[in-house]
Amino acid sequence: MPSELLAPPRPSSRVRNLEKLKQRYSNQTLWIDECEFGLGVFARRAIRCSETILAFGGPVIDFAETKRRGEWECRAIQIGQNRYIDTLPPGVFVNHSCAPNAGVRHDRELVALRSIHPGEEICFDYSTTMEEQSFRMHCGCGTPECRHIIGDFSDLPPAVQQRYLSQGLVMRFIARRFRTSG
Ligand SMILES: [Zn+2]
Repeated sequence: MPSELLAPPRPSSRVRNLEKLKQRYSNQTLWIDECEFGLGVFARRAIRCSETILAFGGPVIDFAETKRRGEWECRAIQIGQNRYIDTLPPGVFVNHSCAPNAGVRHDRELVALRSIHPGEEICFDYSTTMEEQSFRMHCGCGTPECRHIIGDFSDLPPAVQQRYLSQGLVMRFIARRFRTSG
C-alpha cells in the first residue's frame, strides 16, 4: 500500500532500544550515553572524591564462559583466578582510561579518585582487575599516560602497580599475589 510510503520516518528499533536503555540505567548520580567507544557512564552531578559511584553486579561465571561470550568477553570483570562478574548495566558500560577518575575498591565498588564534574565520563583502569594472560585491548583514551595496549596488572609499570596497590584499587586476588611475591 502506498500509504506506508507516506508514513513519517520512525526511529529504527536499534535507536529506540538505545534510548530505552539509556533511560533505564540512568539515575540521579550517573547517566548512560554514547561516546567514542560506544556507550559510557557519565556523571549527572558533582561526585566527591572517595564517593562510591556504583557497585558492579551480575552472575559469577568462569573463564571458559567469558570466552564463550566472544566480543563481550571484555565486559566481564575478573574477581578471582577463574571467577568473573558477568557485569550488568550500568556497571558494564564503564570504560577504561589510563588516567582514570575512578577505581574499584573491595572487588566491586567503583569509587571516585578525585572530584568529578557533572558531564565528565567516569572511567577506571581495566588493568587493576585483570590477571589472566589472555585479554589485550588497544586504548585510545588520549591521556598523556596512555599505555596504548591494555593487559594484565603484571604488565603495568612497577610504579603504577605500587600506586594502585597503595590506594587499595586492585582486585584482592591480584593484590594478595603481589604482596606475597614482594
Ligand atoms: Zn589509554
